[in-house]
Amino acid sequence: MKITSVSPLPVTVELGREPMSFCFLRIETDEGLVGYGEACDSFGASYAGVIGEIVSQVLAPLLIGRDLVAAEPLAEHLRLSTRRRLGDKGVAAQARSAVEIALQDLVAQAVGRSVSAHLGQVRDRVRIYASSTFLDEGPAGFHADLLAPLLERGVRLAKVRIGPEWQQDLRTLTELRGLLPDDVELMIDGSDTFTLATSMPIAARLGELGVRWFEEPIPQANRAAIAALSARSAVPIAYGEHLYGREDFLDALTHDGISVVQPDAATAGGIGESRAIAGLATYYGARVVPHVCAGPIALAANVALAATVPTINLIEYPLFLAPAWEALGAGDQFGIRAIEDGALPVPSGPGLGVRLADDVATRHPYRLPGARIAGTVGGVLDRFVGDR
Ligand SMILES: [Mg+2]
Repeated sequence: MKITSVSPLPVTVELGREPMSFCFLRIETDEGLVGYGEACDSFGASYAGVIGEIVSQVLAPLLIGRDLVAAEPLAEHLRLSTRRRLGDKGVAAQARSAVEIALQDLVAQAVGRSVSAHLGQVRDRVRIYASSTFLDEGPAGFHADLLAPLLERGVRLAKVRIGPEWQQDLRTLTELRGLLPDDVELMIDGSDTFTLATSMPIAARLGELGVRWFEEPIPQANRAAIAALSARSAVPIAYGEHLYGREDFLDALTHDGISVVQPDAATAGGIGESRAIAGLATYYGARVVPHVCAGPIALAANVALAATVPTINLIEYPLFLAPAWEALGAGDQFGIRAIEDGALPVPSGPGLGVRLADDVATRHPYRLPGARIAGTVGGVLDRFVGDR
């Protein structure tokens, strides 16, 4: 089976909350098979056109005409061929992830099996946690109402986001804790916001509230501060959606002391790379909970990751993206109605088990983000500036 075309499909989907862009990828073969991939920048793919240019200008010429037998050797060929000039992190890793996922889709389709079955499926359902919005977007009741449809589907873990107004956010969180059933566990996402000095009292309060992890409390590059917090925090510290490849994760496990790792198959280098990362994390005694925050192909890839790694028993489910998955035709597989007993079924159809409509790019034309900063609804433009 030879690769005949590699095409990026950047799209922008109008959602009630804010427009979100996604970067899909379509690979065709001489046997008539079509595989889909997707790249995630941690929040859809805000600069999907940029990733698409990397695919078209850099990766496609390295793929077209090549024999496709297995996904991982080709993905590694792309990394080794480009790392010294393009780099192997950031958008370069995101673009390679999209390719690897599409290759996994094709290889599994070629043998008539699902990606999960082909890689060694260990579970038929993947437990999810509800990933919700910033605490400053409303009072505790607003957040409880957002989570309610998922709790009704049996979901028993939920994550909310804390920002620069962290003292008020902690009061809202305390009230939310009181509104939710006792058997619902909470996690907190800090979005790379805080200094060490601010992270410490937040972590202490989260410990008192029984929060399961504090995610990205400190900007990724402040390595010494992350290590200091990890050593002293009452709650486990989680990172991963901005880490690329097993070297990055090994570094974070060794030097930063993180205890929850969150690889995303659409970011870290693909399904195979993320499976390798999960193996490393298990060796370090860390919990592995894949990050998910993009379109249905990225979600399907992370479901396949969780379905094939015994130590992954939970993935993220960003509830505000469920309307996007519906709009893109994956509502039956991944919409809220597909959740049963707090888990999603692992698709059993050939390949990833999720397809995109042929006209997805014309139906949802890509729009440049301009000055819009994704994830800053409500005019809080300094949300990611932090507490400096
Ligand atoms: Mg996060």
